[in-house]
Amino acid sequence: MNSSYTEQNNKTAEAVARLKAEIDAADAVVIGAGAGLSTSAGFLYTGERFEKYFPDFIRKYRFEDMYSGGFQVMQLPPGELWAYWSRYIYINRYMDPPKSVYRELFELVKEKDYFVLTTNVDHCFQKAGFDKHRLFYTQGDYGLWQCSRPCHQKTYDNEETVRSMVLAQGFAIAEDGALTVPEGAALQMTVPPELVPRCPVCGEPMRMNLRADDTFVEDDGWHAAAQRYSDFLRRHSGLKVLFLEAGVGWNTPGIIKYPFWRMTRDEKDAVYACLNYSEAYAPDEIAARSICIDGDIGEILAQLK
Ligand SMILES: [Zn+2]
Repeated sequence: MNSSYTEQNNKTAEAVARLKAEIDAADAVVIGAGAGLSTSAGFLYTGERFEKYFPDFIRKYRFEDMYSGGFQVMQLPPGELWAYWSRYIYINRYMDPPKSVYRELFELVKEKDYFVLTTNVDHCFQKAGFDKHRLFYTQGDYGLWQCSRPCHQKTYDNEETVRSMVLAQGFAIAEDGALTVPEGAALQMTVPPELVPRCPVCGEPMRMNLRADDTFVEDDGWHAAAQRYSDFLRRHSGLKVLFLEAGVGWNTPGIIKYPFWRMTRDEKDAVYACLNYSEAYAPDEIAARSICIDGDIGEILAQLK
């Protein structure tokens, strides 16, 4: 073991101990979570998971990963598009992530007054036990559809239709909810026309309730969650608040990262913690009240126990 490795380990251990003390001391914890948290939980969009559920799409269209495939299928006929998206939605929204990272995060804060702000759309916080009234999903939810125009500001739960779609393609759903390919089954790359979702109001195609542009529908649930989040911040202003950022990258820093920095700067008793694999950083202005821990979030949480 060389000395810089030991030094890094000591630094991490010290930062983890500091974070633990700050969680204990905090009046409230505001969690801000990005894609890195779900990656750490094993929700990978490449490799084994991709190859297991999309072998036909990989063969026929040479898709390279689940995420970019989601854009490429937009060119395909509706039956194929929904064959792709139903598998995608099912495994990323209705199945549990391979690792218990979200559950460990919940164990860490469940006795605290907490709130979660997240750009993740995979429902992992609720599946791990977080109270849905303490969650604000700013960017949508894989479990919801909306009118593609949109002609009205409502979203629709898609679980039942998505289940029918994957079953129609030859998949099976195990007792624990896992999507499986029965032995010898030939997968269909399309869903029957009657399962292709259309807007119940105007008849146009439905689409995912994911923020991509200004056609994203912010329904009543979205506005209620936004209101609860701002109320939470107002109620705890001036108190000892820990802003705990986990796996937030640089795609949309204006949603979590920058506001967390700004609130830490403006609230003299606030503390900012940044857990990130290779991008743990805090600006100089708040460095004295920041804890940056570089590493896999699952491993960091294990050390916090
Ligand atoms: Zn419509």
